[in-house]
Amino acid sequence: MNPYIDLHTHSTFSDGLLNPVSLVDLASRRGLAAIALTDHDTISGLPEAFAQGHKTGVEILSGIEVSADLGQLNLHILGYGFNQEHSNFLEFISKLQRARDERNEGIIQRLANVGIVIEREYLLSIAGSQIGRPHFASLLVRLGHAVDQQDAFHRFLKKGSPTFVEQNKPSAEETIRKINEAGGLAVLAHPGTTDPNLESLPDTISTLKDYGLSGLEVYYPAHNKKRQSYLNSLAKKYDLLPTGGTDFHGNGHSTPLGGNSRTLRVPLNLLNDIKIKLRLHQPVLPGCS
Ligand code: AMP
Ligand code: ZN
Ligand code: FE
Ligand code: FE
Repeated sequence: MNPYIDLHTHSTFSDGLLNPVSLVDLASRRGLAAIALTDHDTISGLPEAFAQGHKTGVEILSGIEVSADLGQLNLHILGYGFNQEHSNFLEFISKLQRARDERNEGIIQRLANVGIVIEREYLLSIAGSQIGRPHFASLLVRLGHAVDQQDAFHRFLKKGSPTFVEQNKPSAEETIRKINEAGGLAVLAHPGTTDPNLESLPDTISTLKDYGLSGLEVYYPAHNKKRQSYLNSLAKKYDLLPTGGTDFHGNGHSTPLGGNSRTLRVPLNLLNDIKIKLRLHQPVLPGCS
């Protein structure tokens, strides 16, 4: 049997519902050979994930998902296999955290302006670790200002709503450079979200490739078979590694961790190709067996 992997997952260290230990346990129960933990703007969950990986035999690849700007586009860039102690990379992540904190304070201010008082302690108790918009959404639902998460985003948190605050994002160029400098590989996440029609994707990829992009997320819940095969052909054309994952956040509505026969499957050989390319980047792969 060909083992499967999941290279796009979130834990309680960003906006996932499972902590890294429970996430890795679930991966083990689902028979996955490997996962990458790719929390938004943070790598703080990785030590717990690696420790649980050692216990359960699930291989862990270090990961992160960074929101970055390319002109008018907002892209999500995944980083894989980087050195988790690289000082410049850690400084880059601190900068992302400061931007997030400022954005969160801005949202609290704007909500106060429309008469909604957010207790920071309460917000932090919901978030557990890093505060993101989904935690604001949960709080707004609990306070009775929205009926569900979607409604909270629609009324208060998404672009265009009066209390929306833009987060200061790094450029795609800087993001890819920082990941490469830390010995990692940069991958464009869910390319179908960048441009649902995919018309501008070849241009975007070509630009990102010049910046040092190494891979393209081909397997993703929102990509149907036709899109998958188109993205695979783009990956080949631009000499990019195909990667994939479910973007698992732990809520019952999304694709299950590692996917299934009805959704998607990511074969283990993609990870082997990533590891071969990582070895060309750096002599030792930190934390990875
Ligand atoms: P943040 O990184 O704090 O800006 O939060 C972004 C996260 O919010 C995304 O990763 C999604 O999980 C979630 N999100 C974004 N837009 C929506 C939406 N319209 N409805 C529900 N969740 C959303
Ligand atoms: Zn998320
Ligand atoms: Fe994303
Ligand atoms: Fe994600």
